Amino acid sequence: MVLNELVSLSNIYGSNEELVLAGGGNTSAKDGDVMYIKGSGTQLATITDEGFVKMSRAALADIFTKEYPSDDDAREAQALADLTAAKMPGEENKRPSVETLLHSLFPHRFVFHVHPALVNGLTCSVNGKEAAEELFGDGFVWIESCKPGYTLSKICYDKMNAYKAQTGKDADMLLLQNHGIFLAADTVEEIGEKLAAVMSKLNAAVVREPDFDSGDYDGEKAQKCFDVIYELYGDDAVITYEPSAEAIRFAESPETAKAVMKPFTPDHIVYCKAEPVYGFCQACIRGAVNEYVDEHGYMPKIIIINGCGFFAVDLTPKGSETAATLFNDALKVATYSESFGGPLHMTDELSDFITNWEVESYRQKQNA
Ligand SMILES: [Zn+2]
Repeated sequence: MVLNELVSLSNIYGSNEELVLAGGGNTSAKDGDVMYIKGSGTQLATITDEGFVKMSRAALADIFTKEYPSDDDAREAQALADLTAAKMPGEENKRPSVETLLHSLFPHRFVFHVHPALVNGLTCSVNGKEAAEELFGDGFVWIESCKPGYTLSKICYDKMNAYKAQTGKDADMLLLQNHGIFLAADTVEEIGEKLAAVMSKLNAAVVREPDFDSGDYDGEKAQKCFDVIYELYGDDAVITYEPSAEAIRFAESPETAKAVMKPFTPDHIVYCKAEPVYGFCQACIRGAVNEYVDEHGYMPKIIIINGCGFFAVDLTPKGSETAATLFNDALKVATYSESFGGPLHMTDELSDFITNWEVESYRQKQNA
């Protein structure tokens, strides 16, 4: 049965940390007029039948025939209401993934969407599109960085239609700038084959791998940093310290840290905040954090210190650990992007939009 296959596809790939971090990514399957889509707040690795939301494909298709307001809040509220109305009876208490509309655009039976660091090394790089053309020919549709939600799905709708008109083929691969990848196929096996082909081509194109072995860090300075961070955040703060060779390399100077001082993808904003803070030593942290709070109105989650690497700070162990995991992901993306012309971050405008986006904060709450 299609739902069983979807669950196993989700569990297998969802447990692979090279593909999925912190509840990111989503999957779907179509069966007649029904589309099963991952529910918001569920995890691919552990999802069961119950975690999927049954949607009406006809109602989803209708959404693309409508006109929505240009005002961000009004448009997203209306599109969300239509998405909610597209749930099948009995699904009232579930919330479909924020990327449901994108899944509905593919005619294929299975759709798989993830944000792997290796893929994002390409989608978050200066020459990403050109490099993708070299690697994948005309086998993909490139989607420029844009606002998530309805806006993104409408752009994909138009681009996928244009692709079909031009090539005569249904698009089965989307590369989303500063976001991730969509793959579609009629069988679970084909999804696996397409994914393996993409990952192996990218692996072969990468010139430098990130190094997460412990680096040569200044232990005394790191200890002093811990003390200052506790003073600033309170004794309840949970600190995850990352002194990897890669973290130390990026922490070397404000110049080297530039590659990770802005977010690459929405995931980095959701779990690490839009920007980290940089300091040369324990003495600088206090001033740097205070300045950051004045500017942003909240405490930073990531503190980068020269000679030490970075510290991920939150009030819960899970929050601190997830922030560290996602910032390590940003270090990976930055490293891989070196193979494709260097890092390309999200614009400040987009970053602010995500920071304020209600749907993303819902996801973070669910995963907290
Ligand atoms: Zn996504």
